[in-house]
Amino acid sequence: MAGPAPAEQPKGRILIRNVGLMLSGDLARPILDADALVIVDGLIDRIGHADDMAGEPAPDMVIDAQGCALCPGLIDNHVHTAAGDWTPRQNQIGWIDSSMHGGITTMISAGEAHYPGRPRDPVGVKALAIASQRAFAAFRPGGVKVIAGAPVPETGLTEDDFREMGEAGVSIVGELGLGGIKDGPTGRLVHGWARKYGMTTMTHTGGPSIPGSGLIGADVVIEADADVIAHVNGGPTALPDDEILRICRESPRALEIVHNGNLRTGLMVLDWAMTNDALDRVILGTDGPAGSGVQPLGILRTITHLASIGGLAVDRAICLATGNTARIRGLTDRGVIAAGRAADLVFLDKAEASAGADVLGAIATGNLPGIGMVMIDGIIRTHRSRNTPPALRVPVIVPDDPSRRA
Ligand SMILES: [Zn+2]
Repeated sequence: MAGPAPAEQPKGRILIRNVGLMLSGDLARPILDADALVIVDGLIDRIGHADDMAGEPAPDMVIDAQGCALCPGLIDNHVHTAAGDWTPRQNQIGWIDSSMHGGITTMISAGEAHYPGRPRDPVGVKALAIASQRAFAAFRPGGVKVIAGAPVPETGLTEDDFREMGEAGVSIVGELGLGGIKDGPTGRLVHGWARKYGMTTMTHTGGPSIPGSGLIGADVVIEADADVIAHVNGGPTALPDDEILRICRESPRALEIVHNGNLRTGLMVLDWAMTNDALDRVILGTDGPAGSGVQPLGILRTITHLASIGGLAVDRAICLATGNTARIRGLTDRGVIAAGRAADLVFLDKAEASAGADVLGAIATGNLPGIGMVMIDGIIRTHRSRNTPPALRVPVIVPDDPSRRA
């Protein structure tokens, strides 16, 4: 049982043409030789050249990308949801919808740790996890696919509890270290149970984030063996450099760099991954909402940070927040521009007045791109973003395109 399906079921055929740059999200081939994309009933059906698509079934809608770049919807691997589109952390409403305006189409909870009065007993932990999973499966602010219901590992949870949650549709576990369990051997045991019942797991890394969470050092991180080493660059307080590098070397698991962490150690981890051919392990999160606020552009800012200061090619940097995260989280239905995947798409261009010859050049200089449109499951969720600087060009819907059916 995976909870109720979203109310909106996308239908119809959409042709997107005049794409200036097709960014796949796949590190193995980050740029595709294509200028057009066809969506059928919310899924990417075909990627290619518009010239070769004459004679194919007539689309219900034609979008002229006006030369914008197209990339997969961004996945924020680290958020702390509470209830709906409200966060108690900054008592703010609308943060998920606002993040969609920053290109986010999927968010993954790292634990409902901010939930007021969060239960810590096993029955309460299970109830909150299942209720959160259900609620966000049925309620999508801005259309964002929020994967929530991430039980924080607490003392007293048994294998049977993880089996029950897995059978109820819970697919993720919150950060080890936010709750009562803070040691490696117990963490490893719990993560093994979670994996057995189909969940992916995370370990907090570094100093306490908020009162009540704990210091989790390299020994615990390596021994606990979660699928994701959450904020390896600190959340927000980073471990000493030598401990971070030891985690990179000794654990085979995913290395998550977050916006709300230590920016210098984030660059250090990126450099280690580039030098050691381990970019496929690096994924991105915001770790928001947090003490430093809500960051609707947090993933875009992190991509820009890593590319402009860290020297990572922009087309590859985008893969860290799209294809890499989908692969590591087992989200085989999204994350890359490929046939059969969800049409979660972001139209990008360089911002007005930005340096750089094009959108990749602009990001490489350290400037945020502008977003001209966001689609989730083939449904347009916004035209020009209200949060990014204005994109030079934005896509337009062509009302009387000759290829449309009469
Ligand atoms: Zn954390």
